Amino acid sequence: MADLVDSSICPLCQTANKCGVNKAEPCWCTKEKVPAELIAQVSDKYVNKSCICQACIEKYNLTIDLSKANIKEVT
Ligand SMILES: [Zn+2]
Repeated sequence: MADLVDSSICPLCQTANKCGVNKAEPCWCTKEKVPAELIAQVSDKYVNKSCICQACIEKYNLTIDLSKANIKEVT
């Protein structure tokens, strides 16, 4: 049972994702749009099982913003 997936752990940073997908209350992740590029970084066995945490999404969005800013600088 080594492959057991802990759905409360973010597959990217291995910290608690605080996802409430299994609870009665809707989770923040149902409102937040998770970038497809970020999901692509998650190994298949975690997809649709454990959520990416909010911090990783924010970090990713910052990276995107920075790369956009860089492109703007270059052109
Ligand atoms: Zn994370």
